[in-house]
Amino acid sequence: MLQEIAPLLFDNGFRVCTPEDQDLALVCDAEGVLLKEGETLELPRAGDIPDAAYTYLFAVGGKTVFLAQTDNPVVLPGYAYKPLSQLRRAQPKAIAFAAATGHQLYRWYLRRRFCGVCGTPTQPSAKERSLVCPNCGNTEYPSIMPAVIVGIVDGDRLLMTKYANRPFANWALVAGYAEIGEALEETVRRETMEEVGLLLGKIVYYRSQPWPFSGSLLMGFYAQLDGSDDISLNDGELAEAAWLHQNEIDIPFEDVSLTNEMICRFHWEGRRVLDTDRDPRPLREILL
Ligand SMILES: [Zn+2]
Repeated sequence: MLQEIAPLLFDNGFRVCTPEDQDLALVCDAEGVLLKEGETLELPRAGDIPDAAYTYLFAVGGKTVFLAQTDNPVVLPGYAYKPLSQLRRAQPKAIAFAAATGHQLYRWYLRRRFCGVCGTPTQPSAKERSLVCPNCGNTEYPSIMPAVIVGIVDGDRLLMTKYANRPFANWALVAGYAEIGEALEETVRRETMEEVGLLLGKIVYYRSQPWPFSGSLLMGFYAQLDGSDDISLNDGELAEAAWLHQNEIDIPFEDVSLTNEMICRFHWEGRRVLDTDRDPRPLREILL
């Protein structure tokens, strides 16, 4: 998956520091990130943009990444803003993950410039990643939206879906955001009923994934169908849903998204995805 960058490490510990010239600079606009033009992703260096205000973000593979903010758009010869949507499958994966995750933090800093309680400009905390209101003390932390992905299993079949009103209509799985007051298992059952009108029995947690493009934390579950397999597309979110047999699922493993991994895992293991004693290794270790 996108965040699996081993043997490189993602170090998300909080620090207050100033950049050296060779540290990486993340320059964002609403749609994307400034990157060197070419086949492989390369961020500019802090020394290339000396007049920016820098905020430490994290380190990836031992390289320190700072958010660089300027009053006017940065123009750097040989660099261009690349839309976030083009980062998913770009290489090297560690830089794609860093750029997308940094852009998630950029959006959060941008949206929390003023206190939501009293309107005073916020200030970065010196002890943790938060923005504090100097007037009323309100503290804002990076927002992460929890969401579930559900692989619904009926024997050797998996319920596959296609979203309505999406630019790319690849096969996906039932998915949705957790509501306030809801346990994740309840989200799994509610989203399944809302999107395809099916009841579930056993629910088994699979794996999770930070998904910076939507600012969410995805949690994957496999679930056993309980009762009728008649699909009804209820809430208009889906254009299509169908039961696909394990052998009919012909989707290449991309090592990017949890949805793709869960679909490929079912193709690999079938109904064993519901067993708690199945192969514990991540799919990339099995297939790559
Ligand atoms: Zn305030």
